[in-house]
Amino acid sequence: MRVLALLDGTIVDPEAPLFRADDLGVMRGDGIFETVLVAGRQPRELGPHLDRLERSARLMQMRLPERAAWERAAQAVIDSWPWDTEPEMALKLVCTRGLDEGDGTPHGFAMGMQIGEDTRRKRRDGVAAVTLERGFAPDLMDRAPWLLLSAKTLSYAVNMAALREAESRGAQEVIFTATDDSVLEGPTSTVVIARGRTLVTTPPSSGILQGTTQGALFRAAEQAGWRTEVSAFPVSALFEADGVWMCSSVRLVTQVHTIDGTAIKADPELHAEISRLYESNY
Ligand code: PLP
Repeated sequence: MRVLALLDGTIVDPEAPLFRADDLGVMRGDGIFETVLVAGRQPRELGPHLDRLERSARLMQMRLPERAAWERAAQAVIDSWPWDTEPEMALKLVCTRGLDEGDGTPHGFAMGMQIGEDTRRKRRDGVAAVTLERGFAPDLMDRAPWLLLSAKTLSYAVNMAALREAESRGAQEVIFTATDDSVLEGPTSTVVIARGRTLVTTPPSSGILQGTTQGALFRAAEQAGWRTEVSAFPVSALFEADGVWMCSSVRLVTQVHTIDGTAIKADPELHAEISRLYESNY
């Protein structure tokens, strides 16, 4: 199931060709994107997602269609989605730098996609993760802005390769580590750990994406009296934590039950409490 809208709000055939072969997004992955969960017609954290899209465009030094165009396209998809049969969708907002040797006019679209059984299983049953090296130091981001470490670019081939590596090791998720053995993020998610009544996540200054789901979880947790901390922690902290989660817009707050083949603390009651906190935002 796909519903595709252009940025003027027109709904178009999702099976018809949309991009030219010489679009830089196609040729080089030179573009940016966001994935937003829409549940019961309500897009979750749309403001933070659009803020992050704008930040990615700034880091990429590329033009971005105005915010109202993204909101219009998102609404067009939402209005055309079959809510009676599909109560949730993943809404992709995609923007490329446009044509090679073109005038820099960006090309964008919004596309609604079904949420598959694989995602539902991960939400329900949790995941086994492996730690994999990402190959950079946590202080690299400021020194090397051209690496686009905190931008959500279309170049996700490495992220997908890491997930295939995890699968080959019998796991479903990856926790990337920096050269100093600190925890970074997942290929498509933010890592959160619990230490008593404190939730901890890695700082975006380490070169990771600022997660909208983690942000929503921390917002609700603080209101409910939890402490929250944004500070670096080593891989060993994953094994000592009271709980570990991978947070992402579509998979929500997914519990990790195994890391590198070792079972970790994965209390179902604590998981239910954390999930309730996140859901209390909506
Ligand atoms: N980190 C990376 C690399 C991601 O690709 C994503 C989302 O796809 C996240 C973190 C989680 O972000 P969000 O919670 O906004 O979906």
